Amino acid sequence: MKFDTAAIHVGQEPDRETGAVIPPVYLTSTFAQLEPGKTRGYDYTRSGNPAFDRLGATLAHLEQAKFATVFGSGMAAVTAVISTLSSGDQVLAEENIYGCTYRIYDKVFKKFGVTISYVDLSDPANYAEIEKQKPSLVWIESPTNPMLKIIDIAAVAAACHAAGTELLVDNTFASPYLQTPLALGADISLSSTTKYINGHSDCLGGVVCTNSKDWHDKMVFAQKAVGLNPSPFDCWLISRGLKTLGIRMEKHAANALKLAGFLEGLACTAAVRYPFLPSHPQVELARKQMRGGSGIVTALFDLPFEKVVKLVSSLTLFALAESLGGIESLVCHPASMTHASIPKAEREAVGITDGLVRFSVGIEDADDLVADIQTSLNNL
Ligand SMILES: *Cc1c(COP(=O)(O)O)cnc(C)c1O
Repeated sequence: MKFDTAAIHVGQEPDRETGAVIPPVYLTSTFAQLEPGKTRGYDYTRSGNPAFDRLGATLAHLEQAKFATVFGSGMAAVTAVISTLSSGDQVLAEENIYGCTYRIYDKVFKKFGVTISYVDLSDPANYAEIEKQKPSLVWIESPTNPMLKIIDIAAVAAACHAAGTELLVDNTFASPYLQTPLALGADISLSSTTKYINGHSDCLGGVVCTNSKDWHDKMVFAQKAVGLNPSPFDCWLISRGLKTLGIRMEKHAANALKLAGFLEGLACTAAVRYPFLPSHPQVELARKQMRGGSGIVTALFDLPFEKVVKLVSSLTLFALAESLGGIESLVCHPASMTHASIPKAEREAVGITDGLVRFSVGIEDADDLVADIQTSLNNL
C-alpha cells in the first residue's frame, strides 16, 4: 500500500459493531473486566486505549516500523526514551537539538546521573567521536532547528552500529512522508505529532517508532509506568489529521520553496536557508534522504533588531507564534521569542542573531504569503 492510501486506511477500518466509517473514540479511563484479570484487551487507559492502537498502527506503517507507541506530547516521547537510561549512561547528541530536549537533559536527567555531550554531526570528521565516546545512544534531528542543517542519517547510523551503539532520530521537522529514518538505518524514530503529523495545531502528541521488540517493550512500559499516555480524544484528532499528511506536506514543501526563493531574491536578506534551495550547502544530501524540503524556511534579514520585530509583528497571514507544522503559516523571531532569555553574545555564538526569522510555511496560497511579507517590508 502506498503512503497516501495507508495514511487513510491502515488502523482506521470501520467500526466492527456499528459500521461507523470513522471509528468511535472511547472516552473512558477504565474498562470492565469479564472475570478478575480477564479483559477484552484493555484494562485502564494509562496502559492502553483503542485510539492509541489505531494511531500507532497508522504511524508504524508510515514510518516503516514494526512498532509505534504514542505519548501525550513530543516531550513525553523524549521522556520515555530517556527514562530507559541509567545513572552513568552518556548520550552523544548533535549540537543543534530542540531546545526542550536540551533542557530536559540539562535540568531533569542530569540530576539522575545521565549525561549528554554535543558534537557537530553534519561534519563526517566528527563521526570518530561516536567510536571514541561509545555513548549509550546517539541523538540527532534532521533538518535541525532553526538553521536547517542536514545530518546524513544512513552514515551516522552506520557509525553508531560500528561503535556498538544505537541511533535515535527526531523526525518531527521532516515527517514520515518526507523521510523514514528507520529505513535509513536508525534504531528509533521519534516525533512530536503536535507538528506536521497532526497538522492542525489543535492538540499535542508524540510517538516513538522502532523495529526493535526490546525498545518497543520499554516504550510500552514507560507509557504506563511513567504516565506518559496521550488522551484518547487527542489520538482521534491526530488520526484525523494524519490522513492528509501526504497532500499537506506536498503543499508545505512547494510553498516553502517558493517563499525561500522570494526571500533569497530580496536585497534585505543576507542569507536564506531551505533544504531544497540550490544554495543550501547540503542540498544533494537533502535530496538523497528526503522526498521534499518540508515547510520551514529560515531567513537572515540584514535589518536592525527593531525593524525585524516590526516586520514579524505586522504580518497578517503569518501568526507570530512558536511551534510549526500546522496548515496555517507562523513566524518566529528567535532573538525576541524562543531565545530571548539567552544573553545576546551566547545566542549569537549559536547563530541566533537579531536578523534571524523562522517561517513555518502553511498551505495557504503561496502568492498571498509572498504578498504578506512584501507588504510588511514596504511599510517598514
Ligand atoms: C515540538 C518539538 C518537540 C516537542 O514536542 P511537544 O509536542 O511540543 O512536546 C520535540 N522535538 C522537536 C524537533 C520539536 O519540534
